Amino acid sequence: MHSVRARSQVARSLLSLASVARSAAAPASMHTPKLWTSWRSFPCPTHSPFISRSFTSTSSRWTNEALQKELLDGVTFGSFPTRTHKCGELTKANVGQKVVLSGWAQKIRKLSDELIFLPMRDSSGMIQLVINGSSGASDRIRQQLTEITPESVLCIEGHVIERNAKAVNPKMATGEIEVELSSVVILNKTHKSLPFQPSNSSEVNEEVRLKYRCLDLRGEKLQRNLRNRSLAAWVIRDYLVSQDFVEVETPMLFKSTPEGAREFVVPTRNADAFYALPQSPQQYKQLLMSSGIDRYFQIAKCFRDEDLRADRQPEFTQVDLEVSFGSAKDIQGLVEGLVRSVWKKLKGVELFNGGEFPRMNYQVAMSKYGSDKPDTRFGLEIQRVADLANSNILEAIVLKHDSKPSDSDIKRITRTDAKTFPVVKITDKNFSSWLHKLPMSSRLEGSLNIDEINKSIDLQPGDTLILNDRPVFLSGGQTAMGKVRLELASTMQSKGLLEIPSTQYNFLWVEGFPLFSPEEDPSKPQDRLAATHHPFTAPVAEDLPLLFHSPEKVRGQHYDLVLNGTEIGGGSIRIHSPKLQTYVFEKVLKMTPEESGRFSHLVDALSFGCPPHGGLALGFDRLMAILCETPSIRDVIAFPKSASGRDLVVGSPSALTDRQLSEYKIKVVKS
Ligand code: ASP
Repeated sequence: MHSVRARSQVARSLLSLASVARSAAAPASMHTPKLWTSWRSFPCPTHSPFISRSFTSTSSRWTNEALQKELLDGVTFGSFPTRTHKCGELTKANVGQKVVLSGWAQKIRKLSDELIFLPMRDSSGMIQLVINGSSGASDRIRQQLTEITPESVLCIEGHVIERNAKAVNPKMATGEIEVELSSVVILNKTHKSLPFQPSNSSEVNEEVRLKYRCLDLRGEKLQRNLRNRSLAAWVIRDYLVSQDFVEVETPMLFKSTPEGAREFVVPTRNADAFYALPQSPQQYKQLLMSSGIDRYFQIAKCFRDEDLRADRQPEFTQVDLEVSFGSAKDIQGLVEGLVRSVWKKLKGVELFNGGEFPRMNYQVAMSKYGSDKPDTRFGLEIQRVADLANSNILEAIVLKHDSKPSDSDIKRITRTDAKTFPVVKITDKNFSSWLHKLPMSSRLEGSLNIDEINKSIDLQPGDTLILNDRPVFLSGGQTAMGKVRLELASTMQSKGLLEIPSTQYNFLWVEGFPLFSPEEDPSKPQDRLAATHHPFTAPVAEDLPLLFHSPEKVRGQHYDLVLNGTEIGGGSIRIHSPKLQTYVFEKVLKMTPEESGRFSHLVDALSFGCPPHGGLALGFDRLMAILCETPSIRDVIAFPKSASGRDLVVGSPSALTDRQLSEYKIKVVKS
């Protein structure tokens, strides 16, 4: 099968070369494409603007000789000198040596006919090439330099020389030396109007950078990010294999199951049969535990057709693992070891001096920080002030007088479309009475000693209070005050009123999540419960009796790993009883028999003697974004999707031909 495909590809390329030979009219250099004023409006996706149109036009008559010249213009086929060093690794220790280097030409600086500089970059860094009058560089090299466009690919020979003291460039790793050219081979001349220069990409619109990703990837930052990603993956594999984990690949062509997220489906030529891409390898890894694999891991591709956000991609990578016979603490210990090894290798940092990562209960996280992924690098904690009627609580953030934002900033943050938060400026005059003047004061409950309350929340005249009332029992991922807290923090940070150290790594396990939450997906019946994480998470053992009458009160054996306000991983101990799993599907989540039947493979596997097991998945892209100190996960993915979920490099998703549609028995209904 493979050989047939390979043969037909060769045949196709030969055919296209032949048709070029038949059709080309004039040397391409005479017909360079016009400069594109707007890269987005590039009109013809089937034809590269970087090859002259006349080259493939049908009205052409080329002589064989002209065609050969055209095909070879600016390109070297066949042998060229073998590289002896990489550009960025040369140092003063190489002075006097003859070297062969390869890389991408940068902009030539011609100081005079005698003195010409040509910086050149490869994956290791930049070096300055030079010819000057005394080097006796041949006219041929001088002529070649006039032909070289930036980003052309070169192979050069030369001698490493020391720069004179005045010419040393301390900002350049190779700034103490340069290479005096003795020969240049142009391996591939670049089109003279590139969409952008990799060195200037930060000034270019992101969509253009994503479309011409191979140019953007040449830049220093993305090169470094991809190298770090590769290094981190290696450290992770090394660590997990040392802990007796087995790397197992699981299928990409999976099945549609109501696991939680919206899936991507893949049609087949059978009209009634579809695959779905896995939202995670969750079900397969549980099957592997029943298969006796004991400790599994995979650096796995996952697919979710969900709303896109800055830190989400429809296709993303997880470090996925699962362990048999282990407790939550065992699994957390293994993950801590993994994260520790990565931080040590990539950051040179010993996390928590080898000690355990801190843990926080979900209700504590939600009430103190208003988030299930609290950023604990700064204070601004939400404090309980007093009880209110109807099982509500009065809570507050205290802004200290010496570091509070301006009145207009406070107003902007506390008056949202959804809600206006009471704000009270504390003075000597209202210090002992503010509580009783609040809009919600008629609902205050219990014994209220305002002096004690002031003391417990550390309130002083001059401070400002932002107040809110909320239910005692919290659910979801963020509270209204949690949002206010984060907005205050970012405003205060931008005004220099709050320091949030970027190199402090506050890892935290959040535990004690509710096992089920109210359904948030508007397309599903709203009177049902949904699994807070996924339907395979085991309940906390002592909450099991609640499952039968108050499932919303049951806590799950789930744990999230949070770092500086970002969830970087989540996992749980799983249900390993086939009966309990079926009960959760059918009685708690109220799945139809058709829906729960889609998990029959899993229930079967649990029935065949599946050990107690649990695991976790780390979001590898998010982890890398934090390690590479970049806000966007697109910066750590070689070929990411755009903000609207498109691969702008290849132009996908794209339409199918009518023939393909009929082969797959798909009818497109245009809305
Ligand atoms: N499969 C889960 C997820 O993707 C992680 C886990 O529970 O191991 O979030």
